Amino acid sequence: MRAILTYHSIDDSGSPISVSPAIFGAQIRWLAEGPVRVLSLEDLVGVSPEEDAVALTFDDGFVNFETVAAPLLGQYGLPATLFVVVNYVGKNNLWNGKKGPGIPVLPLLDWAALGRCIDSGVAIGCHTLNHPNLCQLPGNSVRKELVDSAAVIARETGRSPRSVAYPYGAHTPEVARMARETYRLGVTTDLRPVDSDDDPLRLPRLDMYYFRAHGRLESWGTRRFDGRLWLRRQARRLRQTLAARGGTR
Ligand SMILES: [Zn+2]
Repeated sequence: MRAILTYHSIDDSGSPISVSPAIFGAQIRWLAEGPVRVLSLEDLVGVSPEEDAVALTFDDGFVNFETVAAPLLGQYGLPATLFVVVNYVGKNNLWNGKKGPGIPVLPLLDWAALGRCIDSGVAIGCHTLNHPNLCQLPGNSVRKELVDSAAVIARETGRSPRSVAYPYGAHTPEVARMARETYRLGVTTDLRPVDSDDDPLRLPRLDMYYFRAHGRLESWGTRRFDGRLWLRRQARRLRQTLAARGGTR
């Protein structure tokens, strides 16, 4: 099984975007022991679907990536991709000035820090200019969010990003088509392993929110792991169906 793991903030708040340093540390040490290979995003899509392998991704570019996650990744030589929100680099995660329910306001890495991350082997991916829901924007604004952001990252870091993470996982075939003009890979929040026939611009990921208890990631390859994933997918589908019926999304 191949899977792309999603982390956001590594902190003890218990929020929907947080995994505690203790759980994160345990997961990384377990991965480093080698039961599941840790590959870069680009390498992961190139290996056989039968391979037990993951790619590590971190959304938003929180300061705690550099202070908590990166040292551990560096210690074990594990690759990772950090998705940054270009117009919020060096600021905080109050996207459009709004605080998400239950989401802590946390500082984001600045360009100098992102440069240090690159020097330590971290790949920088794009998480748009402003972290909007791309499904709610007109086409020309979507193109700006996808293309201008890549140009700024290239200018500021000297490296063109090869991957994009759609904010909130929100994308359409048209959004993915536009992303394909700039990126090789695009990641969503579709909660499942990577299939052999997945579109590289619409790759699923496993949000570590659902695995933030001791032993959950470590149950990889067991029926318990597959069962948990299945249950979470059903619960999420039900929520989305109810939300659509309620007309809230
Ligand atoms: Zn995000």
